[in-house]
Amino acid sequence: MTNELPAAFQKITERNAPLAKYTYLKIGGPAQYLVSPNTLEELSGIVKWSFDSNLPLRVLGDGTNLVVREQSVPGIVLRLRSPAFSGIEIQGKRVKVGGGATLMELIKATAVCNLAGFETLVGITATIGGALRYNAGDRQGEIADCFRVAHVIDEQGKPQSRDRCDLRFGDHRSDLEDPVIHTVEFELENDKVEHLVKRMRRAWIYRKETMPYPHQIALRMFRTPRGHQMNELLSPSSVQRLKSGSAYVSERNSNYLIANPGTKAEDILHLVESIQTRVREHTGVVLEKEFSVW
Ligand SMILES: Cc1cc2nc3c(=O)[nH]c(=O)nc-3n(C[C@H](O)[C@H](O)[C@H](O)COP(=O)(O)OP(=O)(O)OC[C@H]3O[C@@H](n4cnc5c(N)ncnc54)[C@H](O)[C@@H]3O)c2cc1C
Repeated sequence: MTNELPAAFQKITERNAPLAKYTYLKIGGPAQYLVSPNTLEELSGIVKWSFDSNLPLRVLGDGTNLVVREQSVPGIVLRLRSPAFSGIEIQGKRVKVGGGATLMELIKATAVCNLAGFETLVGITATIGGALRYNAGDRQGEIADCFRVAHVIDEQGKPQSRDRCDLRFGDHRSDLEDPVIHTVEFELENDKVEHLVKRMRRAWIYRKETMPYPHQIALRMFRTPRGHQMNELLSPSSVQRLKSGSAYVSERNSNYLIANPGTKAEDILHLVESIQTRVREHTGVVLEKEFSVW
C-alpha cells in the first residue's frame, strides 16, 4: 500500500499545513496532510485510507486541550468545519449537532429555543467532538449530562453509533475512543429563558473568577485525581513559582500554565513534568496530564 494521497482527496487536503494558527496556544509545527472533508463519504474514505496505509490520524477541534510540538506532525490531521460537520438541528427537546460545531454555537442555538442543559458550560472553548471526548464541564455540570448518542467513524473507516448507556464518562475523560466523532445527539429540557440566563451568568462569573485572565494564553494541565482537590495537591508542593522558558504557572489557578509569546512546546512539557515531579515528591500523588501532545 502506497502512502501517496489518493486523487479523490487532493482537493480537500493541504500538505505541510501549519497547525499553530488552529491551536489555542498558537504554537506547533505543520501537519503532513491537513484534510477538511465535506461529506461523510469523504470522511470515512480518508479514515479508511489512513488505516490501510498505516498512517497516524488525528482530529483537530478548537485546539484548546492540545500541545503541538514544533516538528512536523506525521499523517493526517482532520478539521471538521464544513457544514456537514458543524450544523445544528433542533427538533423539540432533541438536538443533533456536528462534531466540529463549537460549544458556544450550540449553547446559543439551544438557549434561543428555551432549551436547558448546556448553560453551565458557557465560557468553555471547545468543539462538540473535543468537549464530548473530554467530558467538558465542572462540578456545576458536564456535557455528558444530556448526551444521548455519538455518531463516529471507527478506525477502519466505518460509521458506527455509540449509545450513552454503553459509555463511561468521568472527570474530564470518557471511554469514547473511536478516532472521529462526527455528529452528536443530546436531549435537553424546556425552561424559562430567565432561568437559563441566570444559570449562564452564574457559570460565567464562576469561570471568570477561577480561570486565568482573558488576555492570557493558557493551558489546563491535569485531571483531578479521584479523592483529591487540585489546590490541596498543588499549593503545598509550591508549584506557583515554577517556570520554563516563557511558560509559567498561572497566579490565579495553579492547574493552568500561561504561555507568554515565544513559548515552545518543549517549555510547556518541561514545566508540566517539573510540576508532576514536585507533586509526587510532596504528596505521593501522580498527576495525569489532561491535554493531548502531538
Ligand atoms: C483557559 C481554559 C479554560 C478551560 N476551562 C475548562 C473548563 O472549565 N472545563 C473543561 O472541561 N475544560 C476546560 N478547558 C479545556 C478545554 O476547553 C476542553 O478540554 C475542551 O473540551 C477541548 O475541546 P477542543 O475542541 O478544543 O479539543 P482539541 O484541543 O482540539 O482536542 C483535544 C483532543 O480531542 C480530540 N478531538 C477533538 N475533536 C474530536 C472529534 N470530533 N473526534 C474525535 N476526537 C476529537 C483531539 O484529537 C485531541 O486529542 C479549558 C481550557 C483553557 C485553555
